[in-house]
Amino acid sequence: MKYFSTKNKIVAYSLEEAVLMSLPPDNGLFMPEKIPQLRPEFIANLKNENVASIGYEISKTLLGDDIPHDVLKKICNEAFSFPVNVVNVHNNTYVCELFHGPTLAFKDFGARFMSRVMSYLNRKHTTPLTILVATSGDTGGAVADGFHNVEGIEVYILYPSGGVSELQEKQLTTYGNNIHAIEVKGTFDDCQHLVKQAFLDPKLNDVYRLASANSINIARLIPQTVYYFEAFRKLASKENVVFVVPSGNFGNLTAGLIARKMGLPVEHFVAATNINNVVPEYLSKGEYTPRPSQATISNAMDVGNPSNFPRMIELFGNSWTDMKSSINGYSFSDDETKEIMKDVYEKFGYILDPHGAVAYLGWLAYQIENPDSIGVILETAHPAKFGDSVEKALGRKIDIPEALECLRNKKKVADFIQADYEEFKAFLLAKKR
Ligand SMILES: *Cc1c(COP(=O)(O)O)cnc(C)c1O
Repeated sequence: MKYFSTKNKIVAYSLEEAVLMSLPPDNGLFMPEKIPQLRPEFIANLKNENVASIGYEISKTLLGDDIPHDVLKKICNEAFSFPVNVVNVHNNTYVCELFHGPTLAFKDFGARFMSRVMSYLNRKHTTPLTILVATSGDTGGAVADGFHNVEGIEVYILYPSGGVSELQEKQLTTYGNNIHAIEVKGTFDDCQHLVKQAFLDPKLNDVYRLASANSINIARLIPQTVYYFEAFRKLASKENVVFVVPSGNFGNLTAGLIARKMGLPVEHFVAATNINNVVPEYLSKGEYTPRPSQATISNAMDVGNPSNFPRMIELFGNSWTDMKSSINGYSFSDDETKEIMKDVYEKFGYILDPHGAVAYLGWLAYQIENPDSIGVILETAHPAKFGDSVEKALGRKIDIPEALECLRNKKKVADFIQADYEEFKAFLLAKKR
């Protein structure tokens, strides 16, 4: 498989180039040159598959022969080693729990697969690969876990000071060894901007072999298509299936669009955001107006300029009307989010996290006009990751899983910088001396 930039379809790149460069030189985003359909008999017989075998089929199709198939199979078995649970909350309403991986967020799918693919592609190099990643919370933890102790790879995680939950911060700052945390006095958008600038900086690229682990990396996007198939496989009824996606950078939703292109019979998508509503606004008005992000309780979605938007546009051939006919967009306030968490808990005994709660609201809004649809709400994080907000909304304590509880006593280690590119650059250059 070859990959092209969303800004230039003429030049083709290899898998190794696309994954290790992360961004093409023209500052577009890599996409596979084609998105083939999966074999119809594979889709017809999904019931016989599992997460790892679906992952293998999808990645074989989208990565081609650049990774030997036995290696790819092993990567998928290791990466997709935890379940996707589909829970029927009420009538046509299902929650697809994507948080059963090691860091309790759906980003484990992308990070675990990508780290192994990168490690394979990097195997012949003697200089280390340096991963720069900006996080609004969950990416950092998943990337730290996925890359921890992976040979030949150093990771720098930039996160907004005060912008992530206490336990999220512990997940970023306590791994040590090849995982380095940088606390930035600024927003997630600032962090993302610093990383983007670093990739375009010739001086840094002289000294470092830089790669990205953000959802702009194609090796993180591809494995996210897997759970759409797995969720679908687990549904009793396969008619009128609508995926409802709590969205920030829109990697999750983009992966769903790719799953559908590969033959998954999805009726419709719902993009649910918090008040950072650039994409719902685009869907309703046809105007795309990026702006600074605003802080909310669903902080992993506090994104003012979603990085995967050019891929979404690309998948719809630049047609706003086509995108509109496949995706409904809705945005919700923190108050509405808290209220629905309480409501769903009181009515059905199900505990949503704030991100899943935003999606739940999106589903309710969509359902009004589409009562016969089956809604699959992607629950992207375990509620205990956002324990404070959830406990306040529910008015009761919730159980904290062991994987999080044991972080409390670990010591945070992070460097602190201003949201200033020259300071960031000097910091990285000093590391090389
Ligand atoms: C990252 C994240 C999101 C947003 O996903 P995108 O792919 O950036 O749209 C939603 N919920 C949680 C819990 C996340 O960590």
